Order: sequence, then C-alpha cells, then structure tokens
Amino acid sequence: MPVTTQELVQFVVSSAPVGMPEDPLLRMQEDLKRALKKDVKARRWAMVLDLRKCVGCSSCTIACIVENKLPPGVVYRPVLEEEIGTYPNVTRRFVPRPCMQCDNPPCVNVCPVNATFKRADGIIEVNYDQCIGCRYCVTACPYGARTFDFGEKYTNRAPTQEGIIVGRARVEPYETAASYEYGRVWERKGQDSPIGNVRKCHFCLHRLNAGMLPACVTTCIGRATYFGDANDPDALISSLIGSANVTRLKEELGTQPKVHYLL
Ligand code: SF4
Ligand code: SF4
Repeated sequence: MPVTTQELVQFVVSSAPVGMPEDPLLRMQEDLKRALKKDVKARRWAMVLDLRKCVGCSSCTIACIVENKLPPGVVYRPVLEEEIGTYPNVTRRFVPRPCMQCDNPPCVNVCPVNATFKRADGIIEVNYDQCIGCRYCVTACPYGARTFDFGEKYTNRAPTQEGIIVGRARVEPYETAASYEYGRVWERKGQDSPIGNVRKCHFCLHRLNAGMLPACVTTCIGRATYFGDANDPDALISSLIGSANVTRLKEELGTQPKVHYLL
C-alpha cells in the first residue's frame, strides 16, 4: 500500500530515539500542519535565519531558482557575504536575503496599478496580470529584494551551430517550464507574464498551500533557515523570534520585516 508523505513524517517523528534532539524540519512540518488548519487571517508567516549556522553553500538560492523556474537575472534569495571583526581577528559571515515580507512595505504604496499588496497572512504578493513592469517597487524596496524578469534564457547567446555542443538544442526544456507561483500555472512563452513583471520571494506560497515548507527551508544543509506561523506560541518560529540574540535588517526604517536573524 503506498505511504503518503504525512504518514512518513508521522512515522519518523514517532520513531525518533529517546534522548535524541528533535529534527527542526519535522517540528516545523507539524507546526505548518497546525497553521494551515487556521483561518488565513489568523496566520502570520515569518522566517528566522541563524547566521551562526549558515555555511554560505547557496543551496537555498539554487533550490529557489529551481522551484520557481527563475530565469537569469531573477534571484529571490541571494546569500550575501560580509566581513566581521577587527584585523587580525576577522571572519566571514553569510547572510541569506529573501524578501522580508515587511508589515509596513514601502514597495506597495508606490505601485501605480495596485499590482502588489499585502495578503491577509502577511505575505506581499505581486499580481502578474496587473503588473505593468514600471519597476517603481524595485527602487522603493530598501532590501533590494525585487528583480525584473526581462525574459532572458540561460541559452541566450550560446553557440547554435550544429555540433559545437553535442546534443544541445537551442532552448532547453527547463527554460520554458511553467512555474506555480501564487497558486497559478505560469507558462513561459512569448512575452506572457511573468516575463515583463517584477518578481520576488513569496515564502513559496504555492508550497505552503499544499502543506509543504518553502524550498529554501527544506534544502538548507546547515539547518539555518526556520519558518512558521509567528501567531502560534507553540511553534518553533515563535520561540526563536523571542531569543535574546535576534535582530532584523534596517529596522530603523520602520518597515517591520518578518524575516529575523540570529547572531
Ligand atoms: S523586502 Fe522589499 S519587496 Fe519585500 S515587502 Fe519589504 S519592501 Fe517589499
Ligand atoms: S542553504 Fe542554508 S547553509 Fe546554505 S547558504 Fe542557504 S541558509 Fe546558508
């Protein structure tokens, strides 16, 4: 008899050896299940990034590109690098930077056609059907979290002459694969949306609605990325947000980001 993902997760949770620490991914999966039973207005999705654990592998960046079929130049979750300390005691720190899903988002009010807005669960959505590609929101975002989809392909400018790269077609199938952002199917053809639109991280909303954690969370090899409903006091995310060493980027701007960092 086929086993469902939920049954598999339940088996792993219930068979964890006594005394072993609980895997945060399994805990977050349980937290997610609870959150999805609530009304959408009662949820408040948030993310925590533990910078002490991030090893800068960029698995999350790649997982996001694959999940959302992102073309060249469109990146939802880069991992930035910074140098900290004073010479000679310096080290590097890796800072993943998704959209902060700000509670007070400067990108929303500048949109002349109301194509970008805050949903009831706090995620900032872009309506690709309405977006006219003016890019005012790109300029307004203080985190650089928005990029424009120019319709580029990875094989653009690649050699097309027969036989130069054996077996290579002019456009690879992955370049035209559809994405499922915001619960819709977005075919990649001609100049159709999302080509010509502004794009950004949406906490993998389509995965959440299907009962799955965001792709970056499940792929993080350092277990540095946490996600959940900050309105749930029993969720792992809530205890992490309550940590003494938590901070947010550019808080002084009053944007009230829902992405938190542990230092
Ligand atoms: S990080 Fe930028 S794009 Fe995301 S909600 Fe805040 S202002 Fe808008
Ligand atoms: S996958 Fe995890 S460890 Fe790797 S860069 Fe992203 S956040 Fe850091």
